[in-house]
Amino acid sequence: MLALLKRIAKTGIVSEPTPEVGDMRREIDRLQDEVLRILGRALTIREVDAGSCNACELEIHALNNPYYNLEGRGIKFVASPRHADMLLVTGPVTKNMENALKIAYECTPDPKLVVAVGDCGCGCGEIGRLFGPNYATVGPVEAVIPVDVKVPGCPPTPIDLMRGILAAVAKNRR
Ligand code: SF4
Repeated sequence: MLALLKRIAKTGIVSEPTPEVGDMRREIDRLQDEVLRILGRALTIREVDAGSCNACELEIHALNNPYYNLEGRGIKFVASPRHADMLLVTGPVTKNMENALKIAYECTPDPKLVVAVGDCGCGCGEIGRLFGPNYATVGPVEAVIPVDVKVPGCPPTPIDLMRGILAAVAKNRR
């Protein structure tokens, strides 16, 4: 026990410092306001995990925490693609999920937006390039359905995800 306490005292705190709240908060507010300004109403998103390791999902979950608070600003995750404006897809797309992803895309009403999330979903970076067509995966999201915006990163941060969502909405409004 004493050895453990000595080790804890010697190691100190190893977690990352918390981000500068002021700048981050302003960036989040600006992105959220911009989405609502462009769209003029709530945006609904259906998240599809087409084969990710779930770290991308953890960052997507963070969008709904009290800090990023997307739902509080009218951007909601929904349970069915039939109720969604946008598909947020993580990959790589596995063979078992290929058909389900196609069906989700077909069920999403027009004009449907697709944001590919993470290096696996975008087919980029060291990790993403590992998953080409093989016995288990089809490849990146664009190998199965059309993609409007890619958000690379392994995993991408919530701010990057918000920027990607905004870019897809802005592209659709042009
Ligand atoms: S991009 Fe990285 S975090 Fe996201 S699913 Fe692939 S390996 Fe996991």
